[in-house]
Amino acid sequence: MKNTIKTICIFCGSSFGNDAIYREKAEALGKLLALENITLVYGGSNLGLMGVIADSALTNNGKVIGIIPEHLESKGISHKRLTNLHIAKTMNERKAMMIDISDAFIALPGGYGTMDEITEVLSLNQLGIINKPCGLFNVKGFFNDYLKLHDIMVKEKFLRKEHSNMLIVDEDEKSLIKKIKNYKNVEIGKWF
Ligand code: AMP
Repeated sequence: MKNTIKTICIFCGSSFGNDAIYREKAEALGKLLALENITLVYGGSNLGLMGVIADSALTNNGKVIGIIPEHLESKGISHKRLTNLHIAKTMNERKAMMIDISDAFIALPGGYGTMDEITEVLSLNQLGIINKPCGLFNVKGFFNDYLKLHDIMVKEKFLRKEHSNMLIVDEDEKSLIKKIKNYKNVEIGKWF
């Protein structure tokens, strides 16, 4: 049975990266979400890949919900044309809200912010606090070394293979979304 996916939370760089492929793929994913009638949830700013994916979804008549913390909103970097913009008190409140209202999560290339966000949802899934598909949009093999670290964690018995297998990885946006819809949760305890 397929999962009903109405909202996907995107974690991605507030920078553009140094290769046009990052923008192109952020645009492609934003467009696909709009065409699939999936609401995009994200950090609410107009910077870097964040702005690119929001603009692409909106241009293609998609819905976009931004959730931004007060201290960033006051810097004037929030996106001004979103379907909805929520202002949260803190970064943590913002992340909790993003996790709460989303049916699945996808990370695109990014920096510490992106890695913090995707790793948090993986950890919550592993503990069974949430059971929602998590994917990496592996543009240009960006996440290959992060995936190697997962293998090391499994080999050294800090992470269960079943949990690392739950992470969906694809470099093609269409097949990534298809895998997210077909995702099956694995219920297994965290500890060895
Ligand atoms: P980074 O990967 O370090 O560029 O951080 C990007 C991620 O952190 C995004 O997915 C956002 O949710 C969050 N973030 C970073 N910068 C901002 C910003 N200016 N406004 C809102 N969220 C941000």
